Amino acid sequence: MADLKDIKGIGPRAICLLNKIGIYTIEDLVTHYPFRYDVLERGDLSKTEDGEHIVIDGKIESVPILMRFKAGLNKMNFRLVTQSGVVGVSIFNRAFLKSKLEVGTGITVIGKFDKTKNVITASEIKLETLTNKRKIEPVYHCTSGLTNKNLATYINMAILMYGKEIPDYIPKTYIERYNFLNKKTSLNIIHNPSTEEKLKEVKIRLKYEELFAFMLKINYLKMENKKNNQGLDRKINREKLNSFIKKIPFQLTNDQKEAVEDIIKDLESKNRMNRLLQGDVGSGKTIVSFIAMVANYLSGYQSALMAPTEILAVQHFNNLKEFLKDSNINVELLTGSATKKDKLRIYEDLKNGDIDIVIGTHALIQEEVEYKNLGLVITDEQHRFGVNQRANLQNKGLKPDILYMSATPIPRTYALTIYGDMDMSIIKERPTGRQPVTTYVKKNEEIKDVLEMMYDELKQNHQVYVIAPLIEDSENSDLTTVNKLKDQMLLAFGKKYKIDIIHGKMAGGAKDLIMQEFAQGNIQILISTTVIEVGVDVANATTMVIFDANRFGLSTLHQLRGRVGRGSSKSKCILISNSDTKRLEIMKETDDGFVISEEDFKLRGHGDLFGTKQSGDMEFKIANLRSDYKILLQAKRDSKEYLLSEERKNDAIKENLIHTINSN
Ligand code: ADP
Ligand code: MG
Repeated sequence: MADLKDIKGIGPRAICLLNKIGIYTIEDLVTHYPFRYDVLERGDLSKTEDGEHIVIDGKIESVPILMRFKAGLNKMNFRLVTQSGVVGVSIFNRAFLKSKLEVGTGITVIGKFDKTKNVITASEIKLETLTNKRKIEPVYHCTSGLTNKNLATYINMAILMYGKEIPDYIPKTYIERYNFLNKKTSLNIIHNPSTEEKLKEVKIRLKYEELFAFMLKINYLKMENKKNNQGLDRKINREKLNSFIKKIPFQLTNDQKEAVEDIIKDLESKNRMNRLLQGDVGSGKTIVSFIAMVANYLSGYQSALMAPTEILAVQHFNNLKEFLKDSNINVELLTGSATKKDKLRIYEDLKNGDIDIVIGTHALIQEEVEYKNLGLVITDEQHRFGVNQRANLQNKGLKPDILYMSATPIPRTYALTIYGDMDMSIIKERPTGRQPVTTYVKKNEEIKDVLEMMYDELKQNHQVYVIAPLIEDSENSDLTTVNKLKDQMLLAFGKKYKIDIIHGKMAGGAKDLIMQEFAQGNIQILISTTVIEVGVDVANATTMVIFDANRFGLSTLHQLRGRVGRGSSKSKCILISNSDTKRLEIMKETDDGFVISEEDFKLRGHGDLFGTKQSGDMEFKIANLRSDYKILLQAKRDSKEYLLSEERKNDAIKENLIHTINSN
């Protein structure tokens, strides 16, 4: 197919600018959809009330008078003759338009009408009159040097010249079934809608197309998984497994029991496991993964448990060692900071099968690591690893069963898509004896209250986390920092309590040491960045204080709060912020992770759900997982049907699309 440079009017400079906003191909260009539309309907001065918005066209009657103010600001005034009378126009900071605004020029003015002064304060001036009484105008994301008008021109030229060659990802069957317009016409309409009805119709078609393509990939992945999913044939000795389970010092919740059953069934089935274990922070996923690894061991295979951070890997390692202390199951820890000598020894022992269970960070899936008979791979906090690593992991070892764990309760809509290729177990129930965490929102000025609340807990021999968004002071930010808080806390509590800091820039070993000291109760106040966000478990820590709380996303706040309330004492979470945000309100109202993620979803859209950017295949150009849920469901059904159909067999476009999954 042709390139951007083949489009009439697009030169090297334009290509550069288009690249800047992520447009590299003709397809990118024509699917650079407007993010909104301005409806330009010619207003009537006599029918417009004071302070109302108005769109009106006419001819310039007076030479614009330009006034310049401090700091480069400017204002222009002139008179405009319209069909409903003469009106004054003021516009700020458009001095550059002056030479174009000659007397007699036809323009359109959009702005606010001051009826008493008979003046429109314009937010925008277009150098043309309205051709119809009503016009729907697309508004695009632009960049400096590339105007809305440029973009519209390029897009329309591209559609004109190459519209027929743009691939349509909807198979013929569904185009016919739903009476969809063809791709070229649809593109034409989305960029130049004549009416709202037409626009609506074509939007549905383009959303469907996008979601169909997406679900086709997911369903394909699912099908392939099923196809190459010959797993390990094994039986698990339930009696032996139960004797391990009996040693757990608490009673498993029903949801935990069910998750364990799901996993055992998967392990024993001839098919390969590809399961997601989802559960809110503190719901007790770790013990489920331990049981899974013991079950795997009992059937004669090695297990690998991968954590996103060293701190977490160490914590899992220590807990598992404790759990298995009366057994002869051999557990090892492999992280990036292990010495070369240790690494080599561990590699050797993994290869010859002396190690039964290995826990670590992503070091576990490095090239050099070979396993004798890897039967189970578990990844904790799966979203931290990014979606693409799914494939990586699956290719290690023989045909290991795979279990993903995620502490982010994902709204059903979302889970259905990004995890659509997996089976799911969900832990909703919390372990008994847990007390809900009370959340307070405090202003910076109320720091004394906060210190008192901290002191109350410290006096009872409880521990406190204090979180700041930054490590060190910086000139261009007045956010709270770990270092500043350290001084502050030392001043307030330094005589009586041990205070330390932990942050992402510290060496792994140093972090682990401090974390261990905190876990053992040798540190009472731990000041940190969000490095402790993920998974750390210290039951005696009952207070979480978060400075500049408005700087954190809902999911992050929820994860942070999940660090307390893990024991039987009542816990507190104190959010400090001078700006009241909706987020902080939500935090105060609920501690149900599912509700919170639903709210996060609403506030920020799907792209940001985890506070970290998701893989590129989750970015949609026109569809929205939440508001287009119904279309999504239809696309899901159809893509499944299509994958099994005859039509697919000679459809190159869709095959290409499917194969992009293997390359990214
Ligand atoms: P998460 O799901 O966030 O990873 P963890 O597995 O770290 O949660 O569990 C949090 C804490 O709850 C741990 O201290 C764990 O030992 C404890 N726990 C897990 N399950 C239960 C249970 N059924 N009853 C009591 N405590 C439990
Ligand atoms: Mg966990």
